[in-house]
Amino acid sequence: MTFRDTAAGTLTTADAGSTVQLAGWASRIRNQGGVMFIDLRDASGVVQIVIDPGVHSEAVDIRREFCLSITGEVAVRPEGSENPDLPTGDIEVTVADLTVLSSARALPFQLDERTEVDELVRLQYRYLDLRRPRVAANLRARSTAIAAMRRVLNQAGFLDVETPTLIKSTPEGARDVLVPSRLQKGDFYALPQSPQLFKQLLMVGGIERYYQIARCYRDEDFRSDRQIEFSQLDIEGSFWGRDDVLATLESVMVEVVRDVRKIELETPFRRLTYQESMDRYGTDKPDLRFEMPIADLTGLFASTEFKAFAGAVEAGGVIRGLNIGGQEMSRSALDGLVDDAKDAGAGGLVWMVVEDEGGLRSPVAKFLSEAELAGVRSALEGAAGDHLLIVADRTRVAADVLGRFRVRFGAPEGHDELNFVWITDFPVFEETAGGDLVAAHHPFSAPVDVDEMATSPATAIAQAYDLVLNGSELGSGSVRIHDPETQQKVFEILGISAEEAERRFGWFVEALGYGTPPHAGFAVGIARLVSILQHEPNIREVIPFPKTQTGVDPLTGSPSPVDDYQLAELGIDLRPEVRAARAEAAEGEPPPGA
Ligand code: ASP
Repeated sequence: MTFRDTAAGTLTTADAGSTVQLAGWASRIRNQGGVMFIDLRDASGVVQIVIDPGVHSEAVDIRREFCLSITGEVAVRPEGSENPDLPTGDIEVTVADLTVLSSARALPFQLDERTEVDELVRLQYRYLDLRRPRVAANLRARSTAIAAMRRVLNQAGFLDVETPTLIKSTPEGARDVLVPSRLQKGDFYALPQSPQLFKQLLMVGGIERYYQIARCYRDEDFRSDRQIEFSQLDIEGSFWGRDDVLATLESVMVEVVRDVRKIELETPFRRLTYQESMDRYGTDKPDLRFEMPIADLTGLFASTEFKAFAGAVEAGGVIRGLNIGGQEMSRSALDGLVDDAKDAGAGGLVWMVVEDEGGLRSPVAKFLSEAELAGVRSALEGAAGDHLLIVADRTRVAADVLGRFRVRFGAPEGHDELNFVWITDFPVFEETAGGDLVAAHHPFSAPVDVDEMATSPATAIAQAYDLVLNGSELGSGSVRIHDPETQQKVFEILGISAEEAERRFGWFVEALGYGTPPHAGFAVGIARLVSILQHEPNIREVIPFPKTQTGVDPLTGSPSPVDDYQLAELGIDLRPEVRAARAEAAEGEPPPGA
């Protein structure tokens, strides 16, 4: 039996008079007694089919989402019954043969786009959710994006190489997802946080140009733009420097955006150093669809009488300001900004409003000199009605708080415009709250200057770069360390003892000792890219089977308990307190079916 010869969504008036066979789902059903209209949906779209229940008596039992195959003639719709909202709205198909391929149970939710459905329910029935146009369109866009990536890289001579997913840990700074080994009881594999070390080994192995759509796993606390498992476009090249990576990624992005969004991007993308970005936009992932720069006002208040400002500067901090433009804001809304700033970690926030005569209205105006007020207005280019925000704090805090306000008041809705920017020259290391140094990117990125890294690690610059789109970090990369001595030096600065370095990375450092070519690479998070291209605020919308914020898959119920014999085979026992907590939780659960 054949099921169909034509895709429902492709029919037009040009097909009128021809006989077609279609297969799909009954997405809307109207039974008007003598005649039934069904919107038949397949992956290509929807077309109205018309059934005479007098001829096809089984049709009256058809419910939403029954799966059907029909044969019929394409007809131009009678005048006045066209549907301008439907691409096939000028025609319909008059059914001659009807086969119900399978019936459908009562649906847990309506599949039309107008019905808002709780996300947990959507995920529990993801296979039904996928029938809705929005998620289906997102998966199509994702596929289009990946196809473009592969096309560009295949043409450029890259090899698509798979790397293992049961590995020894790769340090990307997150917690590993561990997998117990049955054959080596007590030992564990880690799932890759990225293929980082394997792609570098491919370079040692002479593969020169590598890419992969790689699955990566990071056991981090979930945020709206993170998942425990995700896909990256991962690339690496030998005899490459930074600009080779950037140019390659730009050529990939141009094709992806052209295919998904029909927009021609201009290259090269803008570049900013990390420092410029932090100073001017308060973040290393600036949204540059709008300017709204942060200005440094520290010099202006060098000898201020205003204690809050003077104190911050004395403590080695800065005073920075932001002009958020004309806003409709009440006094209490302005005071609310002060609370928001405090929530974000600042000691406080000063707001000022530029008055028509050019003066500044502010709760602190009386503590500031005329010259200081005039200086603020001119540094922030304040015009009448503009709202100015000032933070006096540690550099990082001032940047962060004003950076947040900048996005809150400046960022446009949606992603009609796409603004790509490279952030370069990241520091090699970052200080944790506890004062330890950790790799800002990962420990395999090359410093610009090895000696500088050794003598002043806290300020040393790495040959590392990020790609940012509309204020979201799409991915990062770097020129790699390709000699064992520098690699060891980095481990040392990170406080990894020689023994630990040997145990964890000895195999890798050894590989670097066999004539490793200079190499560099990058990785782009696919869901994040596609979600922006698709105007989706949440990456789960572009992931076929995502997990919730708590790492749960409501469809299959994973993660879930395993049988004791499975644990025994792995040589694993749950800790008593874990067992007890689980038993207690199970007792509190309602009986199945309640
Ligand atoms: N492995 C890095 C990451 O996953 C990317 C890279 O440096 O190529 O972020």
